Amino acid sequence: MTSDDPVTTDPVTNPPSPDPTTADGTLPETGGPVDPQPFGEPGGVGAPPTYPVEGWHVRETDFDLDALPQSETIFSLSNGYLGLRGNLEEGAPAFERGTYVNGFYESRPIVYPEAAYGYAHDDQALLNVTDGKMISLEVDGEVFDVRTGELHEHNRVLDLRRGFIGREVVWESPSGRRVSVRTRRLVSLVVPHLACMEYEVEALGPDTAEPMEIELASQLVANESDLRQSDDPREMAAYWGQVLRPCWSYAEGDRVGLGHQVERAKLSVYCLTDHVVHTPADVDVDASTSRDDDSRIDRIYRFSLRSGQAAHLRKYLVYTYGPDAENGAMPDRLQGWMDEALESTFEDLLDAQVNRLDEFWRECHIDIVGDDSLRQAVRFALFQVLQASALTQNQGIPAKGLTGQGYNGHYFWDMEVYVLHVLTYLSPKQARESLRYRHSTLPQARARARELNKVGALFPWRTINGEEASSFFPAGTAEYHINGDIAHAVRHYCEITGDDEFLFDEGVEILAETARFWLSLGFYNPGREGRFCIHGVTGPDEYTAIVDNNTFTNLMAKSNLAYAAEVVERMRDVAPEALARLVERIGLQDHEPDEWAAAAKAMYVHYDPERALHGQDDSFLDQQPWDFEGTPPENYPLLMHYHPLDLYRSQVIKQADLVMAMFLHGHEFTAEEKQRNFAYYDPITTADSSLSMCIQAIMAAEVGDLEKAWEYTQRTALTDLHNVQHNVHDGIHIASQAGTWMALACGFGGLRNHRGVLQFRPQLPPGLEMLGFRCRADGAVVEVQITPRWVTYSLVDGHAVEIGHNGAPVTLRPGEPVHIDW
Ligand code: BGC
Repeated sequence: MTSDDPVTTDPVTNPPSPDPTTADGTLPETGGPVDPQPFGEPGGVGAPPTYPVEGWHVRETDFDLDALPQSETIFSLSNGYLGLRGNLEEGAPAFERGTYVNGFYESRPIVYPEAAYGYAHDDQALLNVTDGKMISLEVDGEVFDVRTGELHEHNRVLDLRRGFIGREVVWESPSGRRVSVRTRRLVSLVVPHLACMEYEVEALGPDTAEPMEIELASQLVANESDLRQSDDPREMAAYWGQVLRPCWSYAEGDRVGLGHQVERAKLSVYCLTDHVVHTPADVDVDASTSRDDDSRIDRIYRFSLRSGQAAHLRKYLVYTYGPDAENGAMPDRLQGWMDEALESTFEDLLDAQVNRLDEFWRECHIDIVGDDSLRQAVRFALFQVLQASALTQNQGIPAKGLTGQGYNGHYFWDMEVYVLHVLTYLSPKQARESLRYRHSTLPQARARARELNKVGALFPWRTINGEEASSFFPAGTAEYHINGDIAHAVRHYCEITGDDEFLFDEGVEILAETARFWLSLGFYNPGREGRFCIHGVTGPDEYTAIVDNNTFTNLMAKSNLAYAAEVVERMRDVAPEALARLVERIGLQDHEPDEWAAAAKAMYVHYDPERALHGQDDSFLDQQPWDFEGTPPENYPLLMHYHPLDLYRSQVIKQADLVMAMFLHGHEFTAEEKQRNFAYYDPITTADSSLSMCIQAIMAAEVGDLEKAWEYTQRTALTDLHNVQHNVHDGIHIASQAGTWMALACGFGGLRNHRGVLQFRPQLPPGLEMLGFRCRADGAVVEVQITPRWVTYSLVDGHAVEIGHNGAPVTLRPGEPVHIDW
């Protein structure tokens, strides 16, 4: 036990470090009142915000038991490898005490009462691992619980600039003992496996002759998941109870640890914690480790405090996991990491955190003048994108990040088409890491294609380990567009960064194997003048399933096929050795790229000349209209109230589908077609999926409906902070967090990638005074500032670069901003 560095900082009111965005000349923060939102439907967007509007903080100033499930998600911390849900340190009350290590999962066979060939075999679920967040407190034998005694103060803040959570509580026990508890918690954005907490308890009174007897029990607890049964497909499927099987425990001085295995996935997870305690000089500490059972170890500290005295506990946590075969090595690995971690105080770790965030906020600088609530929301959104992706270790990005177990912790297309779309512009190194994870799952994707009697590779619609985990094939395997989504992300990343090293190695392998798959899935259809058709698929709109020629899917496939052929052609000239390695690895035949190019050229896209509309697929426009007027608001989301067959036979859309195609493949549509298609499809899009609104915002802006674009942007931005979809308790919606940046940059900034050249069509909605953001291409960082009267483009970093402004080329040179008035 050591007695070092007493607490000197105030966790809650400590001022943030300087704003890096003001340092280099961009507009400073303005502060100001909360703007009333322009709408007020059920969903809560029009309701007063749960959290006050502040520049860099999300703050809770009252304890609201009803809001706890939601605030546990909002106050989650993670780094892409390790995630801690925003639970109270004392552990109760809790909706779900969650600790997640990305990629640590268990699987179980999917039981189909009526099985058929080719159905997915195994379900997978991200597991809630050993919880090390908890420190319970007893004051003279009374357990600190916000529901008992009296809570005089509760203040909790998520600091987006410094990457930690601070909490300050003043509590009076039922028998009148008053204490203040101040905590800070961080999940390192620098060291993947590390989290650290500080806990300070101060005796406030009454000032009696007898000191207060304090007990702090720092816990490690496994198998505490209390999963709820639910009919909501978006929640985690109820899992078996005690899935973690103990395989290791450790207790030596202040250091305790637990290790667990799971049976089918053959993985083990280990957690180690260590403590540093500081108490006033004249106070004795009695420390003991109580071993309750294999799923729990408490390190208990007992001491007494007189009124005005404080004690301080620092708790370090390290996690690792791996295949059972590494079991012998994992405890040693943790011990080494822990020894290293102990060399840093919380302040040291916080300094490192701030440095990382300085860099992040410089790279991802975004500013909004005229709507402080939106500015807070977009900062929260980008912080979530960072938290979900910063330090992944050959892992994907779950649809809920590491903030909850919604969707079983699976990786979907949300990762490629939303998160990586943004990371490619802002933090391309992270985009590359995620693409590498996908590449590492090619063996499973190849096996899946073979199982379905196809060639190449078919990536899973939802997965953790690379195998298909969707048991509902109409909105699972049939969403073949996942292949095109991944290929699209490879293309977007490689065009924007010019990273040929990745492209000619992992990238081209993904492109070639997915191109092969399309060729074996589609066919040249004599009934459609010999065009290449793809039948029996589901597009992004999951209210329409198993249709022919979904326009989104066909255009994704077209781009995938054409780009794969183009890259291989390019490699013949510029990278023959890499091409030879590819040929060796996947047995590529000379004729294949020509066949891909031909299929791309012949790709069928449904267009109805009489209605002057693109079809979402061959039959969509002939389906019966949905009775929107007769659908009460409480019946949304429709998926919770109507059989899929009712939805499938109707013209009702869950999420942007054709509208999404017009965003990702804008050059395939004329401006008039976009106008007409948007006018038709937007009103029948329910946005029952949180992935929809940002795309609707982007296309509303492109067709000139700025008011609508504004409304959709707000809804996207507030999805989590205002619990728009009513399910924030399951975790944040990472796609719509990324989508918030997309709505602003691609919507109002008009940002598009045209073969690696950034194109802008800036415009602002009424009420917004300024939108500023940065994005990068080919190593250059471009800053855009848009006001109602002018736009300025400047080069913040890198060499001269060409961009497009309203279709006209503009060259940006260092130190020479380009200012355009209108
Ligand atoms: C959406 C999918 C999405 C998934 C995970 C579903 O409701 O329809 O497009 O990938 O949620 O976010």
